Amino acid sequence: ERLNNDFQFIEVGRVDPKKVPASKRKKEFQEIYHPFKQEDAASQAHRCLHCGNPYCEWKCPVHNYIPNWLKLVSEGNILEAAELCHQTNSLPEVCGRVCPQDRLCEGACTLNDGYGAVTIGSVEKYITDTAFALGWRPDLSHVKWTDKKVAVIGAGPAGLGCADVLARNGVKPVVFDRYPEIGGLLTFGIPEFKLEKSVMARRREIFESMGVEFRLSTDVGTDVLLEDIIDEYDAVFMGMGTYTYMKGGFPGEDLPGVYDALPYLVSNVDRRLGFAATDSEFIDMKGLRVVVLGGGDTAMDCNRTAIRQQATSVTCAYRRDEANMPGSRREVANAKEEGVKFMFNRQPIAIIGEDRVEGIKVVQTRLGEPDENGRRRPEVVPGSEEVIPADAVLVAFGFRPSPAEWFDKLDVNIDDSGRVTAPEEAEFQFQTSNPKIFAGGDMVRGSDLVVTAIWEGRQAAEGILDYLDV
Ligand code: FAD
Ligand code: SF4
Repeated sequence: ERLNNDFQFIEVGRVDPKKVPASKRKKEFQEIYHPFKQEDAASQAHRCLHCGNPYCEWKCPVHNYIPNWLKLVSEGNILEAAELCHQTNSLPEVCGRVCPQDRLCEGACTLNDGYGAVTIGSVEKYITDTAFALGWRPDLSHVKWTDKKVAVIGAGPAGLGCADVLARNGVKPVVFDRYPEIGGLLTFGIPEFKLEKSVMARRREIFESMGVEFRLSTDVGTDVLLEDIIDEYDAVFMGMGTYTYMKGGFPGEDLPGVYDALPYLVSNVDRRLGFAATDSEFIDMKGLRVVVLGGGDTAMDCNRTAIRQQATSVTCAYRRDEANMPGSRREVANAKEEGVKFMFNRQPIAIIGEDRVEGIKVVQTRLGEPDENGRRRPEVVPGSEEVIPADAVLVAFGFRPSPAEWFDKLDVNIDDSGRVTAPEEAEFQFQTSNPKIFAGGDMVRGSDLVVTAIWEGRQAAEGILDYLDV
């Protein structure tokens, strides 16, 4: 009866999966959302209106067939839904967990007009987790392997997206990464309370069973030279991310007790997973007053990791207001529930302390008059200086590209900000100025999102297939 109800969206409101209570979850490094039950997933999926022009699908960077798989879930057809998810996305179970859906598919959903968007992300996670638990695996039995092989540098979402599409088209991908596990920032940056490590471990098994080969703990440039790789392979894809940490440019940034966000997060992952191979020293916030600078996903992950390490207090200072935070609103809400204190419109001007950090000096900002482009710039409120006491400061101002010295030698052009030039509009999509080398993800677009990295990796694979004429 429920399936015939076209007005389900009125009778059934948007319901998100239940969360572990904040008092419990702030002590553990585990995903905070309970899985949907079958009946919840079906009734939530059935709220979809199947819009003729589905905005959700257009807004999704990989253009997932969202209304189609929502329909399959509402009919209980999970395996077909999983098959459909994999036609456009190499890591749907990851996107279901970490995409900022409120800014993408769900933000564009027609039902936002007063009814509450369809819970697209949670249904996506439900589909893939359930299908895998039922034993479903991508079927590559029809694939005819060619004699071509492609080297993929970087096992992050861009590299994995590329390897996935290559394997499905019979081109052997060999993926190199300097880290001991696959996933890039999915494994070593994003903490377990958003994405448990078992998810990537399962995905690694699936990729290996699809014929993707991984050469891990292998740094390209030292352990193996790109020049040799180029000779040995028919083409190369680079998905090496962005790893130069942005600085604030104010005094005191080098004081002991001030840390860059990523080494801090990586050290926590290393410690928890027992990896010594990335050799970052464990940084512990237990018993400290912690101030996190920044307002994006990385800042939120630092906040919530410090809470779980039992910091005495965690304060997040951000220079704009809450509405202008770049990260997912869901994660800001989760951080607040877990006890993170936010100070908005605060611009850091100095980190102070004698031998180590003792506090951070901030000024208050407000939005000033519009500039020539009509954009209101933050301006300092006179006399608003204050010091936030701190025993540790985590700087999460984002990342810049880290061009390798061999780019030049191999004729790989970069732009003024260090990003590799690999245009989507090139004759072969995402080809660099060296015809044999393709690139995508953060190293091409600047640090962005998991889903955009997956998209570029997949598109670059299409470019490589055209280039290799297979
Ligand atoms: P990466 O994921 O950085 O992968 C690059 C890989 O290349 C790494 O594994 C690296 O070891 C390897 N590599 C680099 N150079 C070499 C070399 N010379 N030899 C061998 N291997 C090499 N996005 C979201 O959508 N949602 C989120 O919630 C989110 N949270 C984030 C939290 C943090 C803390 C951070 C830092 C980022 C977050 N992001 C999030 C952004 C997202 O993780 C990135 O945009 C995405 O991972 C980029 O993918 P990539 O494949 O381009 O690069
Ligand atoms: Fe369904 Fe919302 Fe997409 Fe429309 S926009 S097809 S209601 S999920």
